[in-house]
Amino acid sequence: MSQLRRTEHHIGGAARPPQGGEYFTSTNPATGEDLYEAARGTAADVDLAVRAARDAFEDPRWRDLSQTKRGHLLRRLGELIGENAEELARMETQDNGKLLREMRGQLAVLPEYYHYYAGLADKIQGDTIPTSDRRVLNYTRREPLGVVGAITPWNSPLTLTTSKLAPALCAGNTVVVKPSEYTSATVLRLAELVDEAGFPPGALNVVTGFGAEAGQALVDHRGLAKISFTGSTRTGALIAASAASRFIGTTLELGGKSPNIVFDDADVANAAMGVVAGIFAAAGQTCIAGSRVFAHRSVYDELLQRVADRARSIVIGDPLLAETELGPLAFADQRDKVAGYVDLGVSEGATVLTGGRATDGGLGGYFFEPTVLTDVDNSMRVVREEIFGPVAAIMPFDTEDEVVALANDTEFGLAAGVWTSNLSRAHRLADRLEAGTIWVNTYRAMSPMSPRQGFKNSGVGVEHGVESIKEYTRLKSVWINTSEDPVADPFIMRS
Ligand code: NAD
Repeated sequence: MSQLRRTEHHIGGAARPPQGGEYFTSTNPATGEDLYEAARGTAADVDLAVRAARDAFEDPRWRDLSQTKRGHLLRRLGELIGENAEELARMETQDNGKLLREMRGQLAVLPEYYHYYAGLADKIQGDTIPTSDRRVLNYTRREPLGVVGAITPWNSPLTLTTSKLAPALCAGNTVVVKPSEYTSATVLRLAELVDEAGFPPGALNVVTGFGAEAGQALVDHRGLAKISFTGSTRTGALIAASAASRFIGTTLELGGKSPNIVFDDADVANAAMGVVAGIFAAAGQTCIAGSRVFAHRSVYDELLQRVADRARSIVIGDPLLAETELGPLAFADQRDKVAGYVDLGVSEGATVLTGGRATDGGLGGYFFEPTVLTDVDNSMRVVREEIFGPVAAIMPFDTEDEVVALANDTEFGLAAGVWTSNLSRAHRLADRLEAGTIWVNTYRAMSPMSPRQGFKNSGVGVEHGVESIKEYTRLKSVWINTSEDPVADPFIMRS
């Protein structure tokens, strides 16, 4: 009999054991030790969860709640997350290996997402539309969709779930989340806080399990009105195809291979820190990782030196410790995938300037050294494909036109960084780069107020900001004939 703690699904406001009776093990990637056993979700569990979400959607306590009061619940949820921040931060660090200090930073802003949407809840409204006949009134209503299915990855479970949950609830929907099989713990705890905040049971349901099993069952469930997904481009394409066959909407936040461009007029020391932050923070396991670095030839050597020096001094170790700068990759296969990419790069002709090796960090974990590759170009797979690890490919360029073409020569379009002191150039690049987010002299800045969207194979639809509400509502057009006149000609309608 296993001694590990067990987690269950969260359905209809209560812990629910899996219908199939099976559990799977989640490990701590910093030590390789087993952490807990999570319920292995199947189609039967997903069906229960979608039904619970539908019941909650139709529950008068939710359906008839004023928009202002919906906002109050979101505000309370934000407060509860703030009150439980340390517990949530530690839990997520143990689950996916993110630095505790980064998690504390994330938890410090996470309540703001709920507070932002709390404020938006009673600003969701339709319009009055002009008509050619004044006796006819035409107005629109912005209505919730119903049950939203949300599927999230392991790299930032709480934040990436929040990007979907907060606007979905704000707009009056109910939600079923399938978190990554590597990181079930914090989303389950979040569901308890949703109940504690006073949302009706079933407003948020969580089914844990594997992508091909619980995830696929959720995507294919006929009770969903919408699917919101964050994860790889490959899985996103499967989900988009399933949703399209039933004509339901999707919001897809997918992969990236973002360029980080350093011009000769930049503060090179500062830019080097931006490059380090862009690729080595979270051990490179961010969709927005600045994994392709382009440096103007006149500053290339200096930038390379600075980035490599800082990479060599990065403290690898226990993510719970304050001095640690680089934690593990989230699971052993991910570490092996990163190692495989570095080997592939070398076989393609790349030089490993620094790093390049897996290590157990002295803890038995799944670490990989911060790695800088040179002698690389856009033809190589190591430059074209998302690695999702601490591996930077650094390349020189000569002209602005050339670097714009190189930066845009990718299937992805999530984000781009530009380091320059030339204001005109900054705006020119913001115009010419094909990416949904552009950072100038900064990297990784993000807020619930600012919309973000992946271009090209990096996504469909908008998360965050006022725009995101449209992703979770449908528009109804209502026509009212205010005149008492009888219909004069049945073949001509008033408008
Ligand atoms: P993944 O696509 O393998 O898995 C994501 C989620 O989808 C998991 O919960 C998984 O169980 C589920 N899943 C897998 N196969 C499925 C299927 N057939 N049907 C339904 N669900 C399925 O991605 P990952 O490895 O967990 O996450 C890393 C990826 O996420 C990277 O590509 C990264 O760039 C991307 N990401 C994007 C953003 C963004 O905002 N654009 C943010 C974070 C991560």
